[in-house]
Order: sequence, then structure tokens, then C-alpha cells
Amino acid sequence: MKQGNSILAEYGVTVFEVMSRLAIEHGSINLGQGFPDDNGPADVRKVAAEALEDQPNQYPPMMGVPELRQAVAAHGKRFYGLDVDWQTETMVTSGATESLAACFLALIEPGDEVICFEPLYDCYLPMIRRAGGIPKLIRLSPPDWAVPADALQAAFGPKTKLVLLNNPLNPAGKRFSREELTTLADLVIAHDAFAVCDEVYEHIVFDEQDHVPLITLPGMRARTVKIGSAGKTFSLTGWKVGYMTAAAPILQRIAKAHQFLTFTTPPNLQRAVAFGLMKDDAYFASLSSDMQAKRDRIRDGLSDAGFTPALCEGTYFLNADIRSLGFDGSDVDFCSQITTEAGVTAVPVSAFYASPDAPDNFVRFCFSKQDGLLDDAAAKLKAYFG
Ligand code: PMP
Ligand code: GLN
Repeated sequence: MKQGNSILAEYGVTVFEVMSRLAIEHGSINLGQGFPDDNGPADVRKVAAEALEDQPNQYPPMMGVPELRQAVAAHGKRFYGLDVDWQTETMVTSGATESLAACFLALIEPGDEVICFEPLYDCYLPMIRRAGGIPKLIRLSPPDWAVPADALQAAFGPKTKLVLLNNPLNPAGKRFSREELTTLADLVIAHDAFAVCDEVYEHIVFDEQDHVPLITLPGMRARTVKIGSAGKTFSLTGWKVGYMTAAAPILQRIAKAHQFLTFTTPPNLQRAVAFGLMKDDAYFASLSSDMQAKRDRIRDGLSDAGFTPALCEGTYFLNADIRSLGFDGSDVDFCSQITTEAGVTAVPVSAFYASPDAPDNFVRFCFSKQDGLLDDAAAKLKAYFG
């Protein structure tokens, strides 16, 4: 039989799927794959159910239903002071994943260089490479994940087409500082590049800090794509509703990819997400504060069990150093061992690095779970290592 595409053939099954399957097989508490264990806001689900019955279920407009596009524009104004024309500067996609795919397909020409920060979310590299891009990786390391300014500067060159920024950063739990964003913006502008910003965790930031979208920095409005996801903002990961904001000339190009990818996204879900984005400030504030309390809870539990937790300024992931437990094997071995023997699943952080000498002493715990489950997981780990 002939071979399929060689780039995708290089990749195995994603680490999330592998660890979730192992967790099911061993009946362990799954703090690996990132998803909340509640069912999302009841009022948002109700709008989806009603819209399913009462509104049309045929193809909605290719760019998204007007209510949701208007809500995306209003959300940008409310939280970041952005003036967005919903008709020319917003588009709805099937998850942030489709937004990312559409950006890569539409903006990258074969041979273009794409700057990314590692650790990186699993779909970035295969999709960039499949689109013909050449990744230029900037390595961030635990526990502080600071951006090395020299390496950043050196990564840019005449072939730089775009920078991909995930802020807050999964799996690191890092928020890029305003200084880091300013340095990045200056380089993007100097090299006449695009910025694609995966901001799916924009409303999960902690310790009274604000999320600063790169698109709001001087000179960036016309060259930045900002991507959000209802999966994270409304704890509805199965819905796969994403949305993007970008200046009209860029968005037009990206829409050409979207129209041939999924074309549209289920209309009732779009209407419900429009309702969600218009919820009052208290909803968004409580999302952050609830997650922050969970971060503190798992951090304390893991410390008590002997781990050394890293900084976590946003996202619903906390990384922890396994060396303080006296474990000197790899993070991959550690994650399978705790799944099979301690009854708790995490994911190895090395899976988020492309380079071979990735740190192998950190594991990622997802804490968007009921408090009781987090406590049980910490107790199991303490009993196992204690
Ligand atoms: N980007 C990041 C950084 C993520 O963690 C996720 C996770 N689920 C996605 C994109 C995908 O979002 P969606 O489910 O909306 O496609
Ligand atoms: N974003 C989730 C994570 O980082 C997983 C999404 C997926 O399984 N594709 O764990």
C-alpha cells in the first residue's frame, strides 16, 4: 500500500489520548488530559437546547451567526478596550483548533519560518509543518519559564512569517509579562510578521493579574489574530466553538481556509456561546477565582505529598518537579507508574517539547476538577510516596 502524508505519519497518538486511555484502563483519577469535570453553565446549555428546537439547524453563515460575532466584538471592547467591527473583523470556527489550522493554512507559504515557544500545545508543530512552515523554537524552562531575550532576537530573520503565541501558556501555566510582550511585538513589527495568539485561557488568570492580549500593544492591531474558545471560557470542551478577531485584510485570507475546512459550526451552539459571552462580569471573575482556589488546593496537596510545584499564573494546569520525591527516572515513566500504582494520572511535560533534551523532571496536573477529587488525588499520591 502507498504511504500517507509523511509529516503526520511521524506523530503518534496524542499524549492526552494515551494518558486518558491508561487512566480508564486502571480506574485512576485522571488529572492528565485538560477538561473540567462539571457540565458548564446551566443557562448557556439551556440556550443551546432551546435554539436546537426553535431556531434553524441548517448551515449558518460561513463567518458565524451574527449574534456570536457581535458578542465576540463586544467582549473585545468590554475586556480589552478593542474597537472591533463584527462584520469584517470576527469569525467563528469549530474550536480554537480550527482557528489555528485556518491561520496556518492561510498565512504560511512553504518555506516560511514560524516562531513558537516550547513547551507547546500538541497540535501546533504537526499543523505548521503540514502547512509548509519551518518552526523556529524558543525554549522556556521550568520552574519560571522566562523568555530568553537573546534567543528570541536570534530566532527572527528575513524568512519569519509569523509568531505563534499561546498566552496564558499550556502546559506551563505562564502569563507572558508586559515587558516580554513588548519585546515580542517590537520584533514582530520590525520583521513585518503576523502574530497568531492562542488565548483560549484568557479568562483563567490568577492573583489579580490582567490578561494582556498582544493585539492591544502599539502597532499590533493590524497584524495580530486573537483566538478564543468556548471550551475553556464556559467549561464546554466538547462543543468545539472557537472565535477569532483580526483586522479585515488578514481575516479575509483566513476565511478562505475556513470555508474549505469546516465551513460552519453548529448554529445552536454558536447562539448559546453568544449568550455566554454577554454574561455579566461576575461570571468571568468567578471562573478565575474558582480556578485559583483549585490551583491553591492542588498545589498544597502536591507539596504535602513531596512534590515541588512550579509557578502557575494562569490556565488550569500545575506542573510539579518529581525530583524532590526522590524519583530519578523520566517524567514519562513517572506518569505511567503513578497511574498504575498510585491511582492518579498526570501528563509528562517533556511531551510538550520538540527538542530531544527536554526537561524530564516535571509532570502536569489538570486541576479543573471537583475539590473532593483533587483532595483524593493528593491523598493517594501522599500515601504512595509517603
Ligand atoms: N489551544 C490550547 C493551548 C489548548 O489548551 C486547547 C485545548 N484544549 C486548544 C487550543 C483547543 O481548543 P478547542 O477545543 O477550542 O479547539
Ligand atoms: N487542551 C487539553 C490539554 O492540554 C487537551 C485537548 C485534547 O485532548 N486534544 O490537556
